Amino acid sequence: RLYNEVIELKGNIRVFCRCRPLNQAEVEKGCNDVAEFDSCQDNELHILSADSSKKPFKFDHVFRPDDNQEVVFAETKPIVTSVLDGYNVCIFAYGQTGTGKTFTMEGTPENRGVNYLTLEELFRVSEERRGFMKYELEIKQAADGTQEVPGLVESHVSSTDEVWKILQSGNCIRSVGSTSANEQSSRSHCLLRVTVKGESLIDGQKTRSHLWLVDLAGSERVGKIEVEGERLKESQFINKSLSALGDVISALASKSSHVPYRNSKLTHLLQNSLGEDCKTLMFVQISPSSADLGETLCSLNFATRVR
Ligand code: ADP
Ligand code: MG
Repeated sequence: RLYNEVIELKGNIRVFCRCRPLNQAEVEKGCNDVAEFDSCQDNELHILSADSSKKPFKFDHVFRPDDNQEVVFAETKPIVTSVLDGYNVCIFAYGQTGTGKTFTMEGTPENRGVNYLTLEELFRVSEERRGFMKYELEIKQAADGTQEVPGLVESHVSSTDEVWKILQSGNCIRSVGSTSANEQSSRSHCLLRVTVKGESLIDGQKTRSHLWLVDLAGSERVGKIEVEGERLKESQFINKSLSALGDVISALASKSSHVPYRNSKLTHLLQNSLGEDCKTLMFVQISPSSADLGETLCSLNFATRVR
């Protein structure tokens, strides 16, 4: 089948690394910039360690601090639009809290991210294919990872403005009960599922595919203050689901015969969209600050393992 050949050629797991700019507070504290980019390579970066050694990392693409949302989306677009050809697609943002997971996936009203630009592109392409293809989009968003999610928000949408409103309302729920949105999002995954029904341009077959857009919980290790009680339990769940996700993607990348989907609710839920006939993209988000060096190396090593 033609589409299998296409997958074989392109490979179905990608890892993009994105480094945010050093922020004002970090500059004021005198933090150094530890991320170094090669001017002619867009798939490599070096991390400067305290002993001034340089560790190289290679990914499918590396975005620098001054790469804007459009630059990032230009590389992401071919993957997300393959959902229109019947592929299940899964996109994750992984990384320490404060490294730009939400900025990449959701963005801001001035700098809209992958979620919004994707929906906009899906509507644009659907419009282009109108007459050939009927489409219907439904969106489901949940903060936890169960198969049947009670109280799930499900909406039929027909424009990107409606999508943006839904994304916003989902995020209001997510940040209830915490002093800052980042505190809450560091302890919960945010999943958005888009169901696209259509007809493949390749072979005319009816398709119904899922596109998952996932802003993961912060990957940072548990702090010393949190070694007891609910917080510890929560952190252990988060760590378990993130490492289970890593195990699943690396099993897929190495074409292992056993893929351990059942080791966490997150991977169980995403099972149908994480597999051989699916496309997977992981953004590994990093900070350029010397103060975050340890977490940055952990994230880059994690992402290297799944590639
Ligand atoms: P996370 O979701 O990983 O915890 P955020 O997306 O909330 O991190 O980002 C933390 C802060 O850094 C936000 O104020 C965000 O706007 C800013 N930021 C993140 N990435 C970038 C970027 N590439 N360019 C500019 N600002 C960014
Ligand atoms: Mg966030």
